[in-house]
Amino acid sequence: MPLDPVPVLFATNCLFALVAAQMIYFWLQNRHAIWLLWWAAPFLIAIAALGAYGSGPVAGEALDLAWPQAVLLTCFWCLWQGARLFERRRITVWPILVAAGGWVLACQIPEFAQSVPLRVSTSSVARAAFLGMTAFEFWRGRTERLPSRRMAIIIAGSLAAFSAFRVFAAFFLPFPLGGLEPTQAAFVIQTGIVIAHGATLTLLIVSLSKEREERTQRQFAAHDPLTSLRNRRAFEEDAPAIARRQARRNAPLSVLMFDLDHFKKINDRYGHRAGDMALIAFGAIAEARLGAQHSLYRLGGEEFCALLPGTTDRGARKIANRIRREFADSFETFDFVPPLPSVSVGIATSIAGEVSLETLLQRADRALYVAKARGRNRVILARDQLGLRLRAPVTGPETAGA
Ligand code: GH3
Ligand code: MG
Ligand code: MG
Repeated sequence: MPLDPVPVLFATNCLFALVAAQMIYFWLQNRHAIWLLWWAAPFLIAIAALGAYGSGPVAGEALDLAWPQAVLLTCFWCLWQGARLFERRRITVWPILVAAGGWVLACQIPEFAQSVPLRVSTSSVARAAFLGMTAFEFWRGRTERLPSRRMAIIIAGSLAAFSAFRVFAAFFLPFPLGGLEPTQAAFVIQTGIVIAHGATLTLLIVSLSKEREERTQRQFAAHDPLTSLRNRRAFEEDAPAIARRQARRNAPLSVLMFDLDHFKKINDRYGHRAGDMALIAFGAIAEARLGAQHSLYRLGGEEFCALLPGTTDRGARKIANRIRREFADSFETFDFVPPLPSVSVGIATSIAGEVSLETLLQRADRALYVAKARGRNRVILARDQLGLRLRAPVTGPETAGA
């Protein structure tokens, strides 16, 4: 059967136009996702470049022209830059200038221009590099856990591997898979592989964009805007899971309840803004002292809670006292009239999952009341097993500290 690339190219162009239109449509809905345009561009550019191939015989004069391949290389560079923008990195222009410029210059060498295998092999090196970098960008951003990320790395990586394979296949496979005498089968296989990867990649970048949006919204919903700490909603989600995990492992879990002292007075005396700054300062100090393995939540107002998996009451008291001291000390240099901001802490611990989360929270709360009743700016352990009698203060916390 004689080789007729025109129907295949026509079908490819229709599909590419559709893919580009879809990307532009998604970008119109989400204008800051500029990378969608960078991924629409290659499909539009490819239509022009493939048109140039389609207008002449595949291995004939049209292929000898330098520009269609230089333009196709730009498409792969655009994919890479789109991935960079998605990963919040800047555009890098020099690689395409080097690749396209080098290509055009190389085509001026008659031996190179006349050797299809050499041209296929050389252009495949640049394609593999750009696609490999695309996969690398997605891999580099892996700390942002998005469900489609792994698939994007695999698909971009597999297309890069296919291009790398063509660097060698150029010398033993028919065009366009390689650089030997073209065949219909090679044409269909090459087109199929490129279309399958291209279409999947565009679906994936749209998914990634949507997943990032959802993630951002989830984070907004789980965080307190003033202190940037996780909020009560996040606490209610996390705490039962952490408690279950510690109980399953027969491992300790300490709960720290914090309540800033005389906060109403602080607000009244120094202003609400100063109160806000004290809340932010407390969040920063407590987070730094707790470390990454423990989590701190702002439950509301001037009340905070920390979950310390793997920490016994002694360890928890040490950390709590450090936070308490550091918070109080941070205001000493200011010309404040007492009361200075300080914090009271109640601690309850389950040694090996023997205490339910609910009871732990109640005990920590009661220990906090005791801390308030005993004069505030202190840490109290709810260690009823050691004989500390826990009871709600007879006087209210407000009067007990006065
Ligand atoms: P105690 O020592 O007994 O805990 O007394 P307190 O004044 O800290 O306790 P109370 O619960 O009476 O007052 C809490 C105050 O915290 C009341 C409220 O105005 C203030 N507050 C709650 N949320 C915020 C906030 O986001 N910013 C500021 N500046 N103040 C807040
Ligand atoms: Mg309170
Ligand atoms: Mg308070």
